[in-house]
Amino acid sequence: MIAENIKRINSTLPAEVRLVAVSKFNPVESIMEAYNAGQRLFGESHAQELVPKAESLPKDIQWHFIGHLQTNKVKYIAPYVSCIESVDSLKLLKEIDRQAFRCGRVINCLLQFHVAVEDTKYGFSVGECRDMLSCDEFKALKNISITGVMGMASVSNDETQITREFTEVANIFSMLKNEFFNRNETFKEISMGMTHDYPIAVKCGATLIRVGSGIFGERMYLNK
Ligand SMILES: *Cc1c(COP(=O)(O)O)cnc(C)c1O
Repeated sequence: MIAENIKRINSTLPAEVRLVAVSKFNPVESIMEAYNAGQRLFGESHAQELVPKAESLPKDIQWHFIGHLQTNKVKYIAPYVSCIESVDSLKLLKEIDRQAFRCGRVINCLLQFHVAVEDTKYGFSVGECRDMLSCDEFKALKNISITGVMGMASVSNDETQITREFTEVANIFSMLKNEFFNRNETFKEISMGMTHDYPIAVKCGATLIRVGSGIFGERMYLNK
């Protein structure tokens, strides 16, 4: 099932779009099924889940952290993540930089933007992000690399609205590229689209899509 889902989704994606298999709440056995089908890029949204999985699973897996990240959790995930997709403040970015330095590495980061109608979603506004990218404190960070942007659309069945929100993310990417990352080849990712809206995200220019239940089935939120 998992292998077929991955093949089916990949067969619909343009070559330049990569699939992040969102494995949160799913056991290592399911991740290994995806791995054996060739999947190497996985997304997790909780530090306490990512760390044991990263320690026990094959080392050629790339882990993207996609959930809201508290600064006090950065130290746990810093050795394992290949990208933190959910950067939403300078404070968080400074802590990622500090922990990346301690690990002797550079951590790729995406800037998350708030484009949905729900206030519950996290992310920068364009103004806040511009201020950050212009400030000296940001420019001093040496152990992070900003590789693109991330966004989530509203929970909605209204395709027009979702299209508008993903288009906004893509426009923010282009604007930041022009203003701040013009000669920076590494600033290239637009992460948007989940199980229910990734086809729209791909049409709007996504380079990374984050699909969980469409691969692993509906998540069981067990009372642990
Ligand atoms: C859980 C999650 C996903 C995947 O959601 P599905 O609807 O299961 O595909 C994608 N992005 C983020 C940030 C998530 O937390």
